[in-house]
Amino acid sequence: MFDTVKNAGVTIVPESEIAGLMTREAAFDAVEKTFAAMASDDAYNFPVVREAIGHADALYGFKGGFDRTGQTLGLKAGGYWPNNLDTHGLINHQSTVFLFDPDTGRVKAMVGGNLLTALRTAAASSVSIRHLARKDAKVIAMVGAGHQARFQLQTALEHRDFDKVIGWNLHPEMLPNIEQVARDAGLPFQAVDLPGLREADVIITITSSFAATVMADHVSPGTHLACMGTDTAGKQEVDPNLLAKARVFTDEVAQSVSIGEAQHAIAQGLITTADVHQIGAVINGTHPGRATDDDITLFDGTGVGLQDLAVAARVVELAVEKGVATQVDF
Ligand code: NAD
Repeated sequence: MFDTVKNAGVTIVPESEIAGLMTREAAFDAVEKTFAAMASDDAYNFPVVREAIGHADALYGFKGGFDRTGQTLGLKAGGYWPNNLDTHGLINHQSTVFLFDPDTGRVKAMVGGNLLTALRTAAASSVSIRHLARKDAKVIAMVGAGHQARFQLQTALEHRDFDKVIGWNLHPEMLPNIEQVARDAGLPFQAVDLPGLREADVIITITSSFAATVMADHVSPGTHLACMGTDTAGKQEVDPNLLAKARVFTDEVAQSVSIGEAQHAIAQGLITTADVHQIGAVINGTHPGRATDDDITLFDGTGVGLQDLAVAARVVELAVEKGVATQVDF
């Protein structure tokens, strides 16, 4: 007879515990390792499911994968409920990560995914900054000033010695969100118009735009862009001509060309799939990345399930280490 109960504990880490456990550094480390494992074919993402469920205007779906190196198997389930804040006092993005034992298929952990999503997304753009931005980058620009933008800027400021933050947002009344992050880091902040982005050495875009706002002539030679907002078919933040001029990198090529920023440049025949490279190859040293100080580099960050699994697995370890994990028989 098989013992159906033995070792059936599930570790639960609720959303309320995440802030006290996870750090930006730990998220960066987990995401950098994950991108490296993806590029050496030790980890792969499953196709993304994302559906308009016809209820509460919600978009719901799953992102999952398996990382052989980290022995991480699972999925993030969740999505976007646009009326949550106004109707229920909850944030609009809601998600939970489920981890499974790759040897047996048993569920191992259930982890709040909301803060982790912001941390892993900020980690992704900062991994691209570390590996692709010029070492002498001094001015960072933010395009976008919503929920994710604050995390993006906070993390990026830890990965280069920036001395100034500039920002543009379609809704200028939101700019104080990122101005505050700059001031907390002791840096000056200046609101600019779109041509003013030419001053930047690094540009992060993190908006929910469906049309290009950053055009090719808004970007100076030598700039690194981390385009983080486009994660769905139809979304767009930058001019496709910019991808044609740039060296293009991404987390996951299949996602970049279908739901990422590259979808538009590919559709217009400006680049091909072969022009889009995995950031993990640069981390592993199998792709040179930036070749000259004049190159424009562009990271198309679409957000992969393996990022979620990596940060969730780290949180479970930290929760167990610190004795705050809840174990439930299952
Ligand atoms: P938010 O609602 O808090 O902020 C939205 C931002 O987009 C604001 O700056 C707003 O002014 C701007 N904006 C809205 N409509 C616009 C338009 N038409 N043109 C230009 N700017 C516009 O959202 P958030 O939580 O900060 O998320 C921002 C984006 O990042 C979303 O598109 C979200 O899906 C995406 N996202 C991506 C990943 C990833 O892994 N790549 C992860 C999380 C979120």
